[in-house]
Order: sequence, then C-alpha cells, then structure tokens
Amino acid sequence: MLMAHKIALNPNDVQATYFARAAGTARFAYNWALAEWQRQYEAWKQDNELPKPTQAALRRQLNAIKREQFPWMLEVTKNAPQMAIIQLGQAFQNFWAGRAKYPRFRKKGVHDRFTLTNDQFGVEGSRIRIPGLGWVRMRESLRFTGKIMSATVSRVADKWFVSITVNTEEPPKRRAENQGAVGVDLGVSALATLSTGEKVIGPKPHKALLKRQKRLSRSLSRKHKAAKVKMGLKPNAVIPKGMRLLVSENAKKARAKLSRLHARIANIRQDALHKLTSDITRRFHTIGIEDLNVRGMLKNRRLARAIADMSFFEFRRQLEYKTERRGGLVVVADRWFASTKICSVCGVKQDQMPLAVRQWTCPDCGALHDRDVNAARNLLALGLATLSRPTASSA
Ligand SMILES: [Zn+2]
Repeated sequence: MLMAHKIALNPNDVQATYFARAAGTARFAYNWALAEWQRQYEAWKQDNELPKPTQAALRRQLNAIKREQFPWMLEVTKNAPQMAIIQLGQAFQNFWAGRAKYPRFRKKGVHDRFTLTNDQFGVEGSRIRIPGLGWVRMRESLRFTGKIMSATVSRVADKWFVSITVNTEEPPKRRAENQGAVGVDLGVSALATLSTGEKVIGPKPHKALLKRQKRLSRSLSRKHKAAKVKMGLKPNAVIPKGMRLLVSENAKKARAKLSRLHARIANIRQDALHKLTSDITRRFHTIGIEDLNVRGMLKNRRLARAIADMSFFEFRRQLEYKTERRGGLVVVADRWFASTKICSVCGVKQDQMPLAVRQWTCPDCGALHDRDVNAARNLLALGLATLSRPTASSA
C-alpha cells in the first residue's frame, strides 16, 4: 500500500532558495509542456500523420532544447522538470478518466512544489539528503517503513514540507482491541460523538484563530478593493486577463499572514482528526458513519461550517485507510439515512428535528435522547446490520 508522510522541513537560507528555484523550474516545465501539448494536439487534429503529444515525448523534446534555451534549468535537479511533465501526463490521465478537470497552468505561489524520484534523495533519521544540496533537517522522522518511492517538496504559506511516499509491505494487521462496533456522529459543537456516549470536543484554540482569520481576510479584501479603485476599476470588478493587481506592501504582508494562519488552523484540525481516527480504529472493528455530503451541502452557510465540512472528508479518508490497515470495516450510511430523526430505542422516525434541539424525548417510547448520541447509536445499529449481511464490504 502506498502511504505518504508529510513532514515540515527546516532548510537553511541556501536550501530554501534552492527549493524555490526547483519549484519554479518544475512550474515552468509543466506550463511549457502543457502549452506544447495543446499546440501539438491542435496540429494533430489538422494532420493525423503528425504524432499525438505524450508526456514521454515532451520530456525528450524538453531535454533536447533545455541546454540551449533554458540553461538555468541545469542549476537544479533534473527531476524537477522531468517529474513535472510526468505529473502533467497523470493530470491528462485523470482528465480522460473523468476524475479531474482539464489540466490548468500552474501559478506562481499556488502550491509551489517539485518531486524527486527515490534515486535522487536519501532519508536518515530526521533528515533528508538531496544531491547538490546536502542534508536538510526534518521536524520528525519518517513514520512508515518500506520501500521509499518518491518525495515532493512543497511550500505551504512560507514553510517548506516534504511528502515522502512509501510502499509499505502488507502492513501488520493489528486488530482492534475491542472487536465491537461503534457509531460516530460528527458535528460542529463537538468534533465527534460516539454511540458509547463519549463526546470528543474539537481543538480549543480554533475559535479564536477563526475570529482572527475572519478579521484578516476582511482587511485583506478591503485592501484589494482599494487597489482596484486605484487602478480605475470598480471595487468588485474581476481583474481583466493580463492585468495584474498592484497591491501595497501592506496587502502583501496581510496575505502572507492570512495564509500562515490558514496553515496553522489546518494543522490543528489535522492533528485532532488523527488522534480521533487512531483512537476509534484502535478500539473498534466496525465503525458506522454518515455520508458526509448531505450535512455539508444542506446546512453549510458559514465559514466555520465549510472548514468543518472539509475535515469531514478528511475524517472519512483517515478512518478508511486506518481500518484497512487493521482489517476493520467502515459502514457509511446512505445519504438519506435519517440518523438524527430516528429514535435509537424504538426505531420510530420523527418528522422533524430542528438543529436547535439538543435533547428530546421520544413520543412513542418515552426514551430521553441526547441528539448526537442518539444519531451515533443509529449509525452503530446500521453498522451492525451491515456486518450481519453476508455481502458486507468495506467499500
Ligand atoms: Zn422511541
């Protein structure tokens, strides 16, 4: 199984400069290849005798001209341009398979990155060696063992990370401690409620940071509007193609601050989710959860919600790979499953259950319910029912 571990790097100035240059080279090669791809494809449409573009051919073509036309490319690892074009080929594969949109040009400052193949770097404890650059310190050591496949160095806000992909041999299936089942209801007030009645409160600093994020993004948008007015545009105008917004140094600083804050919030949530999903998969074999789409789409109006929704998808992703490693089972409720409206004691479904109702008494059997615990119990029942069916699968 391929597993990736993303680790923060502590590069020195020389190394950070190299990273930025290699990421720039990767972006240039990707964009060059995409433009060539489009040009050659159009030419092929006119004349079917011409070859159709492929990533392998484009890599050869770039290699043939780079010494002459782009000599600065030679200053960084040859992997940077080569892997970028291979990734373009994958982007087209994904597009043809209907998994992704048509490949777009990479923009400077948006997910800057470059990839190394396993012969171009080495990992030892908490450091990574890149030829021509020496050892770069990592904040922690690699979590997985197995054959190292590749590494992608990327920038998030103003920090550099490396994501190392490892082919872990059939992982030892450490069975869950308690072979039982659990239902998990995800929410906003509590990160998760388990059918056992446990509530996992989300990370604390989150609210304060969100407030700061809101304030920062408001002030940034004011600065952007001011810049547009200065350029003779309306404050809400879309910037015409080819025109660049001239933003002040202050706006640039605010933007950097905001993206650092985004990264910090994302990290806090990610840590909390890892703790939660590790704990659940360690303790339970069968785990019932909701289809996360429904709640996300229907009830999401606020920023807090949008962020929570993103972590719902991340929660499910983590749960699925962690249960797979342990041979467990995730049962995802049908999107119309009314986990909050059904009484988990007698099974009668209520007509409505407004969000404000945190506790309720079932009119049919008199059971007193905590809204979220009741939902989690219904998800547990669903998980158990699926488990007892002969066709149960983790899909
Ligand atoms: Zn009832």
